[in-house]
Amino acid sequence: MSTIVIGGGIIGLTTAYHLAREGHPVSVVDARKSGLGASDVNAGWVVPAVSGPVPAPGMVLASMKWMLRRDSPLSIRPSVHPDFVRFMLGMWRHSNARDYRRGFEAHLRLAAGSMEMLDEYLADGLDFEMHDGGLLLAFLDEAHLEHYADDLELVGGHGIESRVLLGDAVREQEPLLSDRVRGGIHFPGERFLDPGALVAALRLRLDSLGVEIVEGAPIDDVAVRGDRVTEVVSRGRRFGADNVVLAAGAWTGVLSRLFREPLPVRSGKGYSLDVAPMPLRSAVSLSEAKVAVTPLDGRLRLAGTMEFGELDETVDEVRVDAIRKGPAAYFRDWSTDCGSAAPQAGMRPMTPDGLPIIGRLGRLVNTYVATGHGMLGVTLAPGTAAALTDLIVRGHCSPVLEPFAASRFARGA
Ligand SMILES: Cc1cc2nc3c(=O)[nH]c(=O)nc-3n(C[C@H](O)[C@H](O)[C@H](O)COP(=O)(O)OP(=O)(O)OC[C@H]3O[C@@H](n4cnc5c(N)ncnc54)[C@H](O)[C@@H]3O)c2cc1C
Repeated sequence: MSTIVIGGGIIGLTTAYHLAREGHPVSVVDARKSGLGASDVNAGWVVPAVSGPVPAPGMVLASMKWMLRRDSPLSIRPSVHPDFVRFMLGMWRHSNARDYRRGFEAHLRLAAGSMEMLDEYLADGLDFEMHDGGLLLAFLDEAHLEHYADDLELVGGHGIESRVLLGDAVREQEPLLSDRVRGGIHFPGERFLDPGALVAALRLRLDSLGVEIVEGAPIDDVAVRGDRVTEVVSRGRRFGADNVVLAAGAWTGVLSRLFREPLPVRSGKGYSLDVAPMPLRSAVSLSEAKVAVTPLDGRLRLAGTMEFGELDETVDEVRVDAIRKGPAAYFRDWSTDCGSAAPQAGMRPMTPDGLPIIGRLGRLVNTYVATGHGMLGVTLAPGTAAALTDLIVRGHCSPVLEPFAASRFARGA
């Protein structure tokens, strides 16, 4: 049973890998070089513990406040385009406690086997840097810890261990934190990895499994007969297979129209930059600054911001500067002059309810979609690939996928 995967980001590559290692012929087609953009520049956290959806209680108020600041961690580029207005209204509608909790639980179920599957990838010969030092949420204001009480109870119910650290206890956990940090939450079971190394390792392994990776080939047309896609086309070059998987990240919204099954996927741009290394024990979330800090071999990655706008990967230096300055309040002896590689941008694929879209694509019986993973593409990639492979190969629709069906948008989600 052959499959064409459109999009060679982390989601497309892991899906191709799961299919190919079961012996199925797969081709991956990417508009440019595979594994760039979001799948390369991200913070590399594998963190079911903080996998709550983006639309959360209080988000509407926070976004109003942040929209007024040029260097804020969240920006919404206003547009009167009906698709954009519908998308933002949807997101605000889902910013309530009930939807947040349901979405969080759905993510937790999808992410349940992530760590074990990443270990399997290593055992299968994929060579990438991964650390198990956990995740530390650091707070300048102790009061902000209280917002996490419900989340801790929820993740605890899914077997995720956490420790609340008040005052100096947070510095016992992470001695490089400054005295201004008043508390923290440590999740010892969470991990972080080098995302560029993971996608490179996946590409290599796909190569050895005989998967064809076609790069520089933007899909620009789709041939449909009845309820089946017969071919996808890039600049006149035609690709045919038994099945098609649409995994084009933030571009999926535009591409889905070629299939005449439009999906509300938009871009949430973020940035990362690598600075001089720091011997941190765990990945650290600078909670108020909204900056993710990842200690990788030989460098420290800083990542952040969420800009809702068009498909555009240009770098906004003002926002990057805010990321660069973020750590100053949290770490002892932080210097912004610690050498940094050029900042990079990536577009997260966002949906109005903050949940991925995984499963069959509308009326098309041989076409599947896997996108909308937002801030969680690395965390959710193994679970997505495993469940989708089960659906494509065995026709088994895991109950884990139920909240992620594309059909929810036809019902007005
Ligand atoms: C700053 C930042 C930090 C992040 N940190 C984390 C983190 O710590 N942990 C985590 O879990 N997630 C994180 N994320 C989110 C994660 O990076 C994304 O969810 C994930 O990369 C999305 O992967 P994807 O494969 O869906 O999309 P992409 O990586 O965007 O891949 C889509 C691919 O489709 C291709 N494509 C587009 N159009 C076409 C076409 N017409 N034809 C063929 N191919 C096409 C593109 O070229 C691209 O290669 C972060 C994201 C950002 C931006």
